[in-house]
Amino acid sequence: MAEPAGRTLGDEEVAALERVIRSGMLSSVWGTETRALEREIGEMYGSRHAIACSSGTAALHLSVVAAAPDPGDEIITTPITDFGTVAPILAQNAVPVFADVDPATGILDPDAVAALIGPRTKAIMAVHLFGAPAPAAELRALADGHGLTLIEDCAQAWLTDLPGGRFAGTAGHVGTLSLQQWKHITCGDGGLTLTDDDELARRMRLFADKGWDRSVGRVHESLGLNYRMTELQAAVARAQLAKLPGVVEARRRTAVRLVGLLRGLDGLTLPATEGHAWWLFPLVLPGGGASALAEKLRAAGIPARAGYLNQPLNQAPALAAPVYGTSHYPLEGYRPQACPEAERLVSDTLLVIDWNEHYTDEHVDAVAAALLRSL
Ligand SMILES: *Cc1c(COP(=O)(O)O)cnc(C)c1O
Repeated sequence: MAEPAGRTLGDEEVAALERVIRSGMLSSVWGTETRALEREIGEMYGSRHAIACSSGTAALHLSVVAAAPDPGDEIITTPITDFGTVAPILAQNAVPVFADVDPATGILDPDAVAALIGPRTKAIMAVHLFGAPAPAAELRALADGHGLTLIEDCAQAWLTDLPGGRFAGTAGHVGTLSLQQWKHITCGDGGLTLTDDDELARRMRLFADKGWDRSVGRVHESLGLNYRMTELQAAVARAQLAKLPGVVEARRRTAVRLVGLLRGLDGLTLPATEGHAWWLFPLVLPGGGASALAEKLRAAGIPARAGYLNQPLNQAPALAAPVYGTSHYPLEGYRPQACPEAERLVSDTLLVIDWNEHYTDEHVDAVAAALLRSL
């Protein structure tokens, strides 16, 4: 993914950049590319609003702003995700509460979430991890039953299908996407939020543009930063969006082939293929030993890693460090929840293999052969 051969970038993206540069307008405030990207993604996802911003983390920050926690309110999330899911909670002075995950997938367990809902809970942030669908319908029912906002982090889950035929990102109140270098499609950095709710959309748009309602004049209505996407990012993202269905289809075809080749092997839990968009190819070894297996696979030239993270995020050093200056607010006296399933996945049972739309059958057969030799 760090080389031309691992990305689907070409003449279309070059032409898009040239179009923007020759237009003389690189800012989305006055340009047309970013608004067009929002329209195209909104149509693809069937969402009333799509709001472009500068990164997936910015999109998650906007979604927390939309949920509008008071300082000290709690947001329940997963310990197995990118730190971009957690940092925006702290940025809004809210407290991350970590619920444990399903040991077969690493995805948030709705029962664990339900057990942590309390008087200060404001939102649930779920992650469609590695491209697999999280149990969005169960989480939405839980959120609705308690008056909470459900945020779906789809940074790894472009075009992931949910049961019933909707895309991940449309079952919650807000969905978020990332266009960072390592995602399914990229413009280097970039993000989007999706919502059908006009009021949540208004809050997010204002926050992404310094709280500035430009239809009124030079008036700042509410706290906001500058999270705007540039026209350069949007033009590349539009070219990438046209290629997205083919990218996901190619990843699905080869991932399903690998699942078929590995079926029936002892000691491996294979990923469920339904709806999966295959950002990475995850395997779980219920008996442990993922590090040793990853090392053997790497020695055979297979891009495999154990654990995905160094430690689950309930154990991230950032939660014990001061948050602002010397102040630990809102985390004074904070003791993150233990998440034994997540801790075991990260330290012992989870293995991820880099996945790519340019893999051929020969690549997949080589991955399968190396796994069979190494188990
Ligand atoms: C990449 C990622 C993010 C952050 O996105 P950026 O565009 O890198 O800021 C958030 N959540 C998950 C699950 C991710 O994979």
